[in-house]
Amino acid sequence: MAIDDPTWQVKSLRAQLQALERLSAAMISAVELNVRPVFEAALEEACQALGADMGALHLGDEERGLTRLVAGHQLDPLWARAWQSLELDGSAPPAQAQRQGRVLELLGADAPPGLEGVLCAPVRGAELCVGAISLLWLRKPAPHPDRASFLTTLGHLVGLAIEHAGLVAEMVDNLEQVLLLKDKVERRNSELDELNRKLSQANRSLEQLSVTDGLTGLYNHRHLHQRLAEEVRRSRRQGQPVCLLMADLDHFKRVNDHLGHQAGDEALRLVASWLSHSVREVDTVGRYGGEEFVVVLSDCDLANGLKVAEKLRSLVETSSRRPPFDALGGLTISLGAAQLKPGMTPEELINAADRALYRAKQGGRNQVQAADPA
Ligand code: GH3
Ligand code: MG
Ligand code: MG
Repeated sequence: MAIDDPTWQVKSLRAQLQALERLSAAMISAVELNVRPVFEAALEEACQALGADMGALHLGDEERGLTRLVAGHQLDPLWARAWQSLELDGSAPPAQAQRQGRVLELLGADAPPGLEGVLCAPVRGAELCVGAISLLWLRKPAPHPDRASFLTTLGHLVGLAIEHAGLVAEMVDNLEQVLLLKDKVERRNSELDELNRKLSQANRSLEQLSVTDGLTGLYNHRHLHQRLAEEVRRSRRQGQPVCLLMADLDHFKRVNDHLGHQAGDEALRLVASWLSHSVREVDTVGRYGGEEFVVVLSDCDLANGLKVAEKLRSLVETSSRRPPFDALGGLTISLGAAQLKPGMTPEELINAADRALYRAKQGGRNQVQAADPA
């Protein structure tokens, strides 16, 4: 078939068009990170469309000054070996095409020994020329007007596929890094949350510890003074009466001496619980010292304070008639009651109740005494 035969030209053009169509379809569906299927499809299509016997694809290794065979189509093992690795500045046709960035056609005597035709086109992406695509003929191919431009187009498509895969790989890399970072940040956040939770728990326990007495769970001496000072200020502002009871276990030393220290502790816990459960929510019960307790009665005058004191005294007396305390005739408390007078400081109120308590002890214990009238 002659080259100027229109039927031949139409057939050849159609073959090239179909090759391009199939190759672009293969590029679109190819796994984006793996360009090898694109190389193989390009070589096969090129050989078919241009009637070549073999195809080879080289990619440059600029650092080593080499271009290496990365794919072949029906490539004879001899050629595969000969073209495996080519000096980039050498005379091998693929190296020349890549180096010069243009198509190279060697026919007949110009072709390398053993071949009758070689066509090499650069593999060029949007920016760089990265390799060469080559077709080899064992018999001299017929002259062809657009063989060179067709292979140049294929080379360009392969170059774009390589660049695209590079970009995708970079994006995947970046994405993985972003996900890793996100994971790290999330883990750090939950660690911080956990730490914060522990910290506020520790703070709460510290607060509790700093206001409560370890044995009885009642307010401690320090916090009692704070609460009393608040009550005194409130009473001065609002004119409401405040009454303070000072209670002391009678002959408590005997409890320790006869029943042991642990029973003594248990007695203190029990009395603390009886006292705190018998007053109102607004009242404050605290352990003032060893076996001494203070009750701050909010909005309460001396008459009512004495009633509460009597109730507490009687409660301890009756509730403690149980083992092991019944062996000693149960537990009793003595109480002194005082009402806040105008101009009195919290300390003076405590002293007034303490003096009343002393009188209760002097009077025979297990009784309530009121502070002296001012
Ligand atoms: P009084 O009726 O005059 O108050 O006599 P008392 O024996 O209660 O008074 P005293 O002050 O002589 O003794 C108080 C005792 O309370 C002495 C001490 O060992 C005991 N005590 C103080 N704190 C604790 C405690 O936390 N646990 C125990 N088991 N005993 C305590
Ligand atoms: Mg005592
Ligand atoms: Mg005492």
